[in-house]
Amino acid sequence: MSNLPPACLRQQELIADVQGHLIRLSELARFTSAAVAAGNENTVAELDRQFEEEVGEKERAMGALREHRKMHGC
Ligand SMILES: [Zn+2]
Repeated sequence: MSNLPPACLRQQELIADVQGHLIRLSELARFTSAAVAAGNENTVAELDRQFEEEVGEKERAMGALREHRKMHGC
């Protein structure tokens, strides 16, 4: 595996998109963990909702990346 970024600019954009969603998910997981520990049920419910929504966004971004790599052969 190479450490160089892929040459295709569109693929780089799609990778950055996936990474952004993964970073957001890790943040939401940390916030949710703290809210669970603090017993703040309303915050837990809201963060959990945002987490589920973000998982959906991440799935779409992953799908777009897979589709691009297949179609573009990059
Ligand atoms: Zn490409």
